Amino acid sequence: MAFDNSKKYEAFDKKIWLASPTMHGEEIEYVKEAYETNWMSTVGENINEVERITCEKIGCKYSVALSAGTAALHMAMKLAGLKLYGQPDVGHGTLEGKRVFASDMTFDATVNPIVYEGGIPVFIDTEYDTWNMDPVALEKAFEIYPEVKLVVMAHLYGTPGKVEELKAICDKHGAIIIEDAAESLGATYKGAQTGTFGKYNCISFNGNKIITGSAGGMLLTDSLEAANKVRKWSTQARENATWYQHEELGYNYRMSNVIAGVIRGQYPHLEEHIAQKKAIYERYKEGLKGLPVSMNPYDEKNSEPNFWLSCLIIDEEAMCKQVRGEKDVCYVKEQGKSCPTEILEAIASINAEGRPIWKPMHMQPVYRMNGFITKEGNGRARTNAYIAGSAEDVGIDIFNRGLCLPSDNKMTEEQQDKIIEVIRACFE
Ligand SMILES: *Cc1c(COP(=O)(O)O)cnc(C)c1O
Repeated sequence: MAFDNSKKYEAFDKKIWLASPTMHGEEIEYVKEAYETNWMSTVGENINEVERITCEKIGCKYSVALSAGTAALHMAMKLAGLKLYGQPDVGHGTLEGKRVFASDMTFDATVNPIVYEGGIPVFIDTEYDTWNMDPVALEKAFEIYPEVKLVVMAHLYGTPGKVEELKAICDKHGAIIIEDAAESLGATYKGAQTGTFGKYNCISFNGNKIITGSAGGMLLTDSLEAANKVRKWSTQARENATWYQHEELGYNYRMSNVIAGVIRGQYPHLEEHIAQKKAIYERYKEGLKGLPVSMNPYDEKNSEPNFWLSCLIIDEEAMCKQVRGEKDVCYVKEQGKSCPTEILEAIASINAEGRPIWKPMHMQPVYRMNGFITKEGNGRARTNAYIAGSAEDVGIDIFNRGLCLPSDNKMTEEQQDKIIEVIRACFE
């Protein structure tokens, strides 16, 4: 099947992206300053400033600017390995052979760093209220694997998860949290910023995030010792000696002062970007009223997302038949019904970019042998749930029925209205 564009919806001349960088002018000034003062390196004023601004904004004591959010997550895993299983004096200690609980419906950069450090991710199913880690499933996971001491949780699409419940469970079982706030910079839960709830936390400045440096990430922590470790590890782990002396394994993970200049210029616009993203979310919500769909949900009482990506999920009864293989998909159009594939085709037909929901990690071939825990217990034991999908496997269900909508903050109201119109056409 293909979306029937018989109404001849005209395509946008310029593509509407899912989420693209939005520059303002200050960025290039800071980059120029780095160039003109010759701080074209991984040290300089832009890096210092970006670290300072981040701590001020998020409310954490220390931040370490790194080359990517993924690098920050890797450093967080190393810190956790050292803290949980290590010999702090020599800086050794890894997650080697240890199970680590992780969000299941997320970008794979949340979990790959666990494997970099030799750990074994066990995926925790998702809940329907915020599309994040399900506290009920997490509690089940601790019943099955009581020895686990580390939990890595993401805040999907900028929506804070059930922080308080997840934290209480981790505290009860003596586990530490690594928070992946890569998508949720500026979002709050009960007034506190995401990126402050774990022991070691990460943000990202990748090109499609709410603010960007074209690349870049940061590790956030309240521990001076941890921040110093990451400063050392991320700059090749040099010891204090006149020659290159190494007692620990090093990495080349520090942020460039040029990249930091871009981020420095973006920070004053974070709140403005969030307001634009929120307006986009509200406009979709309003425009899609009456259709058998709902927006990605959040806890309106306790949280304020950054609305990085607007998503929708189709009511079960309004789903036409859609079958996804590993790389291909097909669907059968039914009157009054639709599916993410058709809507994505419709959006693409007018030169706009949507995207499927993050395919859950437990469905990924690379992680097929890893554990997966639903609120009912061991999700891997019920292979029928894996093949067909069921209400018990929330991740598969949201992946099947949901999609990310074009959420670029430079999209005009007229452009968004047209996107809404083609989505409506899918349900005719
Ligand atoms: C973008 C992203 C990352 C990785 O950040 P990079 O800066 O691209 O390395 C990690 N986790 C999630 C959930 C992300 O969306």
